[in-house]
Amino acid sequence: MAFSLDSILRENIKKAKPYSSARDEYKGTEGTFLDANENPYGSAIEKKVNRYPDPLQRDVKDALSKLKHVAPENIFLGNGSDEPIDLLIRATCQPAKDSILILPPTYGMYEVSAGINDVEIISVPLTRSFDLDPAAILAAVKPSTKIIFICSPNNPTGNLMSTDKVKTILSSFNGIVVVDEAYIDFADFTGFVPLLDQYPNLVVLQTFSKAWGMAALRIGTAYASKEIVSVLNKIKPPYNINLLTQEAALEALQNDSLKDEMVHKILAQRDWLRAELSKLPVCLELYPSDANFILMRTPDGKKVYDFLVDHVVITRDRSKIILCEGCIRITVGTEEENKRLLEVLKKY
Ligand SMILES: *Cc1c(COP(=O)(O)O)cnc(C)c1O
Repeated sequence: MAFSLDSILRENIKKAKPYSSARDEYKGTEGTFLDANENPYGSAIEKKVNRYPDPLQRDVKDALSKLKHVAPENIFLGNGSDEPIDLLIRATCQPAKDSILILPPTYGMYEVSAGINDVEIISVPLTRSFDLDPAAILAAVKPSTKIIFICSPNNPTGNLMSTDKVKTILSSFNGIVVVDEAYIDFADFTGFVPLLDQYPNLVVLQTFSKAWGMAALRIGTAYASKEIVSVLNKIKPPYNINLLTQEAALEALQNDSLKDEMVHKILAQRDWLRAELSKLPVCLELYPSDANFILMRTPDGKKVYDFLVDHVVITRDRSKIILCEGCIRITVGTEEENKRLLEVLKKY
């Protein structure tokens, strides 16, 4: 099926003229800058942050481009990956008319963003083994459906989706397929970024919040066709990534081996924690994880969660979510944190 971005964009978005910032109109870095009503003397803090930051974050994109082997034109940076989720919905879905399709149990922000934008949510549950059912998904698509959100590795189940099934959906759906790879650094899989050229309707989301350890800085990445990236750039708030975050992301990208070392430690802890959890009576089932967390089925998720909270160990109660009856989601911590968790669970 030939994908046409134009056919799924909202009319007002197609016509929209982006805000032209001072930094867009004059791109040079040298000169007497009297264009943006900034304070010329400096800042009320030691660090000079008196000038507006690069709205297109060119330095960060150049560094990401080298690391990921993707052209800068195929990269969008957002205030967390939550921002491109919201922007994609707003670009394509007319409120009170259009729909998105989600695959529960999954990440909650797709539904929240759709709800805020008054966009209908079509839910097609994953299979019992938490994989995709392409036939059921494609059958549930309506003419109003603009985006399918696939989370892989999936939160809260932890598993990667089958690559072939994702490809089937990509080639059969005339809308955007978002593959959310927030946890891809923990998986033994290169992910979908290398397939961007093959699928004009593919958007891959990644983030600095998990493996890179920069959740507080709010920066996430969307990889997509130049056309999709231009639409996102057109509708984003002009200065969506602040200067300190841009500088920190650049620094992190230059030290990517530090990220790799942390991922390595987390994976070693994950394997050890799995083995230890499996020995406990409270553990009825442990699901395979391609991420930095483990979904564990217990006899009563709420009770186990509350018991852990009473001992100041905080996990996520997922027991009320479809297909996750009795489950808690446990983030892999440091060795000490994981030992503390096990100590408490032994008392349960
Ligand atoms: C944590 C997470 C994100 C990250 O969101 P940010 O806004 O980048 O912090 C995105 N998707 C999933 C599935 C997540 O679990």
